[in-house]
Amino acid sequence: KKELLQTFKNKESITLDGKRVLTYANIGNVKDLALVLQNGAEGIGLFRSEFLYLESETYPTEEEQFEVYKKVAETMAGKRVIIRTLDIGADKQADYFELAKEENPAMGVRAIRICLTRPEIFKTQLRALFRASAYGNIAIMYPMITSLSEIAQIKEIVEEVKAELDADGVPYGTPEQGIMIETPAAATISDLLAKEVDFFSIGTNDLTQYTLAIDRQNQSLDAFFDAHHIAVLRMIYQTVQNAHKAGIWCGICGELGADSDLTELFLAMGIDELSVSPGRLLTIRRLICETDSSANKEEILKKWL
Ligand code: PEP
Ligand code: MG
Repeated sequence: KKELLQTFKNKESITLDGKRVLTYANIGNVKDLALVLQNGAEGIGLFRSEFLYLESETYPTEEEQFEVYKKVAETMAGKRVIIRTLDIGADKQADYFELAKEENPAMGVRAIRICLTRPEIFKTQLRALFRASAYGNIAIMYPMITSLSEIAQIKEIVEEVKAELDADGVPYGTPEQGIMIETPAAATISDLLAKEVDFFSIGTNDLTQYTLAIDRQNQSLDAFFDAHHIAVLRMIYQTVQNAHKAGIWCGICGELGADSDLTELFLAMGIDELSVSPGRLLTIRRLICETDSSANKEEILKKWL
C-alpha cells in the first residue's frame, strides 16, 4: 500500500473529471522542508511562522526572518509558499512579548490583534516577507481575522512598509495576500472579505473551536466534540461559495482538510486547495485523483449539509 501511495508522489492532484485541486503541506519549521519535498507537495499551504518567535529569546530581527523566508521560497523553487504572519498568544506564549495573563486566552490578545496593536513587530515581519518574496512564490496570510476594519488596517500598514522599502531602495516582490477564515465572524462575512483579498484558507481547528464553543485543547470535552458538525461544514461551504463568487480561490489548512472521510465533500464543494501535514499528503492526493468531483455532487452535499 505504501509503494502504491509513492506512485502519487510526482502526480498532479487532478480529479477524474479534470479539476485541479492543489495538495499543499503544512509546516511549523524549516526542518520540515525535507518532508515536504519527500512527499511531493505542490506547495506549502501553511507555514506557521511562530516558531521563529517561540525559539528565540527576543524578537527575531528583520534580517533573521528574511533569511528563513528566502530559504523556504528558494527551496520550493517557484511553488507557492503561504507564510502566515505571527499567530502568537493563546496556547503559544513567548515571554518577551510580556502579554498580560488573561481569563480567556483563546479569545484574547493573539495573532493579528497583537500585530495591529504593536505595528512595529508586524512591520518587521512584513518587511522580511516582502523582501523575501522577490526570491520565490511567497504568499502572505493573516490569521484570526474577524472584520473588514482589520483588513483596512493591514492594508494601511502594508502600504507604509512598501513606501519605507521604496525609500530605502530595498527590492521586494508582489506577494499574494490572503486571510485565514477561522472565526465564525469571518465565515459569515466571507462575501465581503472576499472582495478585499487574493485568497482564503480555512482554519478548521479554530473555526470548530469558536463555532462549537469547545476549547480545542480540552480533552474532557471530547464527548461534545463533533469534528463533522454540520454547522462547521456549512460555514466551510458558504466560505468556498463566497470566495468563488468574488473570483478568488479557497483552500483548507486546518486538520479537517486531511480527513479522508470528507474529501468527497470538499471536492463537491469545489475546494481549490487542501493543505495537510506532509505525512497525509499522498493519501489525500490519491483520493483526489480517484474521485469524480461532479458525479453525485448534489447527493454528497445533501448527505453532509
Ligand atoms: C486552524 O486554526 O485551523 C489553523 C490551521 O491554525 P492553527 O492550528 O495554527 O491555529
Ligand atoms: Mg488557527
